[in-house]
Amino acid sequence: MITISDIHTSYKDGSKTVRTVVQSYLDVIREKNPEFNAFLDVYEEKAMSEAKLADERMTNSGGKLRLLEGIPIAIKDNILVKGYHVTAGSNILREYTATYDAFVVEKLREAGAIIVGKTNLDEFAMGSSNESSAFGPVRNPHNPEYVPGGSSGGSAASVAAGMTPVSLGSDTGGSIRQPASFCGVVGFKPSYGRVSRSGLIAMASSFDQIGPLANNVEDAETVFRAIEDKDPKDMTSQDIEDVPSKKKEFTLGIVSDLPEDGLDPAVKKIFEETVEKAKKEGFKIKSISLPHLKYALACYYVIVPAEVSSNLARFDGMRFGTRTDGDTLTEVYSKTRFSGFGTEVRRRIIVGTYVLSHGYYDAYYKKAQHVWRLITEDFAKAFKDVDAVLMPTAPAPPFKIGEKTKDPLEMYLADNYTVSANIAGLPGISLPAGKIDGMPIGVQLLGKRFEDYELLAAAKKLEQALS
Ligand code: GLN
Repeated sequence: MITISDIHTSYKDGSKTVRTVVQSYLDVIREKNPEFNAFLDVYEEKAMSEAKLADERMTNSGGKLRLLEGIPIAIKDNILVKGYHVTAGSNILREYTATYDAFVVEKLREAGAIIVGKTNLDEFAMGSSNESSAFGPVRNPHNPEYVPGGSSGGSAASVAAGMTPVSLGSDTGGSIRQPASFCGVVGFKPSYGRVSRSGLIAMASSFDQIGPLANNVEDAETVFRAIEDKDPKDMTSQDIEDVPSKKKEFTLGIVSDLPEDGLDPAVKKIFEETVEKAKKEGFKIKSISLPHLKYALACYYVIVPAEVSSNLARFDGMRFGTRTDGDTLTEVYSKTRFSGFGTEVRRRIIVGTYVLSHGYYDAYYKKAQHVWRLITEDFAKAFKDVDAVLMPTAPAPPFKIGEKTKDPLEMYLADNYTVSANIAGLPGISLPAGKIDGMPIGVQLLGKRFEDYELLAAAKKLEQALS
């Protein structure tokens, strides 16, 4: 495992140049990507020319390094990089070229990072296994017969296979944390509003958040520092002081009424062992109640399809992406959307349109909004007594490719423990905690809204306990 600080040490002592480092990662991508299908696009030439500039810059600045100087990074392919394809894993955007850089891309460049390519994902970030991508599934580097998790499966596989030291994903209901857990890496979803969503192709705007995947918490924090900032183009983005926390003592909440349907006994055992390790490391443990957590998944799968149906209305063959011709305008719309979108995306558009429709709005959407508030209040109450909440990341271990594709509800259960952080706007981080039959299992910590650095400090301590 090579970290940002290892790479920076080799730049400082002159043992490596940015060119040699970037080239070595590009070589790994070339060797491993045919098997894992993690990358949809690799910017080989551009990355090497940026590496050359970075070497010159470092020589001229007397070896002074910015936060991500000369660090290769992979980006989920629902984030815009100007002049390059951005597919969102969908046929409808197969030929689409981004017309501007996402805010996070600008921030990465300001910090000196080198973008090496775009990673595969579930179509429009909808999924928990990467199998809904129009470009074929990503395979788990720990065993290619298994899914890497989703929807940021390409970004997780990239880090797990050593194709890049860090990557960016997006998390609407767990899509950074769950693939991190399945691939044995660290995945951090910042507080809602902490990282700008400008230039992220929207799935469900109330929950979407960009964040890093990395080999350890420190690297995740470094990437987070580089990308978090207020952006006038995202009205929900906040201006919050950027100071890493020095806090050392933490009380962790363990949820007494955690819904256990679908919780695998082996995952439960790893979770219980984690609690014991945390105690030994000096964490205080307290039991908390989140009485409405059992409704989180149902709430999520009403709110998210509703927002999806509205956000994806723009893909009509006129404004974005591919078009399928027809005799009337309505026929063009429907043919384009039918051939452009895959099954999962169409399913959500239909559910979303249904829950928002006259006569069903009160019964579904409004009720889900009510539950949304209750869950947020549950957390606010719990956080009066604890600094962070400790939970399993996913209820079950990584599964085989094809195992759950026939039953969408079973697939949705994979999100049972991750969606609540998005509903309440909280930061959440998944850490590797153990293995079952050679496949990684993660645990997650959820923190107070906007106290992302405190959460990262707690995560570093937990990482110690788990190492
Ligand atoms: N698996 C969840 C879903 O399908 C999460 C998606 C995400 O976070 N982008 O909705």
